[in-house]
Amino acid sequence: MNALMYCLKDKKYSWCYETTPQPRANNRVFFWPRGKVMGGSSSLNAMVYVRGHPYDYDRWEQEGAKGWSYADCLPYFKKAQTHQLGGDDYRGDSGPLYVSRGKWNNPLYHAFVDAGLQAGYQHTEDCNGFKQEGFGHFDMTIKNGVRCNASMAYIHPILSKYKNLKISTNSMATKVIVEGSKAVGVEYKQNDATKYARARKEVILCGGSINSPQLLLLSGIGNADELRKLGIPCAANLPGVGENLQDHLEVYIQYKCSKPVTLYKYQWKFPWNMVTTGLQWFITKSGAASTTHMEAGSFFRSSSKVAHPDIQIHFLPSVVIDHGQKMGTCHAFQGHSGTMRATSRGNLKLKSTNPFDSPLINPNYLQTEQDIVDFRACVRLTTEIFSQKAFDEFREEVLDKNLRLNSNDEIDSFVRSTSETAYHPCGTAKMGSENDKSAVVDSKCRVLGIDKLRVVDASIMPSILSGNLNAPVIMMAEKAADMILGVPPLPKLHVPVWKPSDPTKQR
Ligand SMILES: Cc1cc2nc3c(=O)[nH]c(=O)nc-3n(C[C@H](O)[C@H](O)[C@H](O)COP(=O)(O)OP(=O)(O)OC[C@H]3O[C@@H](n4cnc5c(N)ncnc54)[C@H](O)[C@@H]3O)c2cc1C
Repeated sequence: MNALMYCLKDKKYSWCYETTPQPRANNRVFFWPRGKVMGGSSSLNAMVYVRGHPYDYDRWEQEGAKGWSYADCLPYFKKAQTHQLGGDDYRGDSGPLYVSRGKWNNPLYHAFVDAGLQAGYQHTEDCNGFKQEGFGHFDMTIKNGVRCNASMAYIHPILSKYKNLKISTNSMATKVIVEGSKAVGVEYKQNDATKYARARKEVILCGGSINSPQLLLLSGIGNADELRKLGIPCAANLPGVGENLQDHLEVYIQYKCSKPVTLYKYQWKFPWNMVTTGLQWFITKSGAASTTHMEAGSFFRSSSKVAHPDIQIHFLPSVVIDHGQKMGTCHAFQGHSGTMRATSRGNLKLKSTNPFDSPLINPNYLQTEQDIVDFRACVRLTTEIFSQKAFDEFREEVLDKNLRLNSNDEIDSFVRSTSETAYHPCGTAKMGSENDKSAVVDSKCRVLGIDKLRVVDASIMPSILSGNLNAPVIMMAEKAADMILGVPPLPKLHVPVWKPSDPTKQR
């Protein structure tokens, strides 16, 4: 786990963004890594494969993303995927993205799921299938012990197949070239040289939730008043560009572990274990380095009033400190626990007209009272799970002495001072109907008011999903590919979705 986080603060592999100071989180500046390599953030993410809840996609459709209901998206989730366990109504069995399960050979995974059941929650066989709600396995984008990122899944297999595929690495797109109201190409810098790529058909941006809106703004596509202030000629007045920024925030609830079963034994205090683990992986692609260790997790509702899970826990038999840059000092485990449908909305603005200047990123964390109330429930419910009998043989004291639960103020203070991004920014070039003034792309991913320009990445999500974003982005890319090719979409798939038997109960 720590090995996979080493590169997050390395500017060679990560964009290493920072947010503006967040007033409702003690004015902290949050570190936002994003992948700067082939495969983007899928090349440095935690490899957890989660689709979100079916109702999320039905909500997208209600928000104006016509043709993006769950029934419309499920065929593309399946098309993208090969699941180690084979296909079924929900899983795919022949797609490029390989998804597998961990071996669960750590007793703490069992303790976590047992604790959930002891607390009265559901078990789920497959949180990406019929029932998201509950405790169980997390799927991972890992094939035979190796990360299956977007590049391994989609680019590597076709590198020598298509003669017309040209990949320009170490290149930075600096502007979409717009003639009249038509996108005709891209200006980019490769090393110090300015180059141009002319589009025969159309231009498709997939720079992610920070870079795609930044590139649109630099190209004169955005809020006309703000562009004018920066001296950028306006090609299309789209005030929604850079708005609607959403993210998942989470807290790490960490306990000292009384048994030597955590990943601590693979860390720097035990160099021999580190070396043998590395060697085992290099030679056989097996062992402790062949998994993300986020093999178990859960989704549940903060209250009976919520229609589907709004809290997610990633369980880890280790601790993460400062984005994996610092090692723990003892055997310990943690739940990363966070709310999944925050109501606060942030924004992103250009700092300057220099494409190499990071934009001003303001997620407005914890801006609404609702988000603070939801986090209180999240912290209380998570600590309740860790207090169950199943953890008695492992759990010692809470590592962060600031985690006190006597009052709302104490919990708020813990959340404001320790919360971190779950690395899921989205929504900054949102998809919506043509009469929605804040929409940036239509439901075919086409930028409104500009011909021959699409955006296909997490920025076009109308609203954040109840889960991690990598699998959904890949699903969206599969669906957009059919739109770009001009072929009819795959037929809708209607499948059953679990509902709580007693909707008046939280669990
Ligand atoms: C540390 C971390 C852990 C995560 N863990 C998980 C997880 O376990 N599971 C999960 O589902 N999700 C996870 N995520 C989130 C998930 O990986 C992202 O939401 C998803 O990959 C976003 O896809 P994207 O295509 O929108 O953008 P990205 O994957 O960020 O891709 C954008 C690409 O465009 C390139 N680019 C940007 N601007 C330019 C430019 N101007 N010129 C040229 N190229 C450019 C970037 O370098 C990058 O390669 C994690 C993310 C991070 C950062």
